[in-house]
Amino acid sequence: PTFNAMNLKEELLRGIYAYGFEKPSAIQQRSIKPIVKGRDVIAQAQSGTGKTATFSISILQSLDTTLRETQVLCLSPTRELAVILALGDMMNVQCHVCIGGTNLGEDIRKLDYGQHIVSGTPGRVFDMIKRRVLRTRAIKMLVLDEADEMLNKGFKEQIYDVYRYLPPATQVVLISATLPHEILEMTSKFMTDPIRILV
Ligand code: AMP
Repeated sequence: PTFNAMNLKEELLRGIYAYGFEKPSAIQQRSIKPIVKGRDVIAQAQSGTGKTATFSISILQSLDTTLRETQVLCLSPTRELAVILALGDMMNVQCHVCIGGTNLGEDIRKLDYGQHIVSGTPGRVFDMIKRRVLRTRAIKMLVLDEADEMLNKGFKEQIYDVYRYLPPATQVVLISATLPHEILEMTSKFMTDPIRILV
């Protein structure tokens, strides 16, 4: 299995090789294709498996960069978009990170400009949606990274709050090291016929 065989955009493929990846890890081999096809995916995977690059590559492949609207929302307990930025280096992609405790004015200015991908903690992202700074109408994918960690940090209500503002057909990708009851409840509420991948 190679990245070349995955039918990825040329500039994305170049970004992947420039970053130093040679071949896809197990989770990448199994998850990128269904995510890009638009399927809802539950990936049970820990850090160290290549999970971040899995959703980053899938997001970059799915984006329409000619449309300057937020198309992907990525929620995580402590997000930083370093990987997505590096892999998308050859693409004309705008990403913004919203995390609690940082300057609100900066978030507002960046979001107003138009960001293809917004990543952040559920509380701050919901705040931006409520203020109508983050417009959700063009969102087509929601990524919930380290979902079990987000629940441990008390973000459950805020995740549901965010979800309620998304278009009904939004694709959902959930990554979690463990799948306790509360996560399964979330998957049954948010997802349609999900594929479950255990790495
Ligand atoms: P993660 O599971 O997202 O915490 O990633 C763990 C580490 O694996 C990170 O340092 C990534 O840069 C690295 N990594 C992810 N995918 C690949 C790949 N296909 N080849 C080599 N390293 C990778």
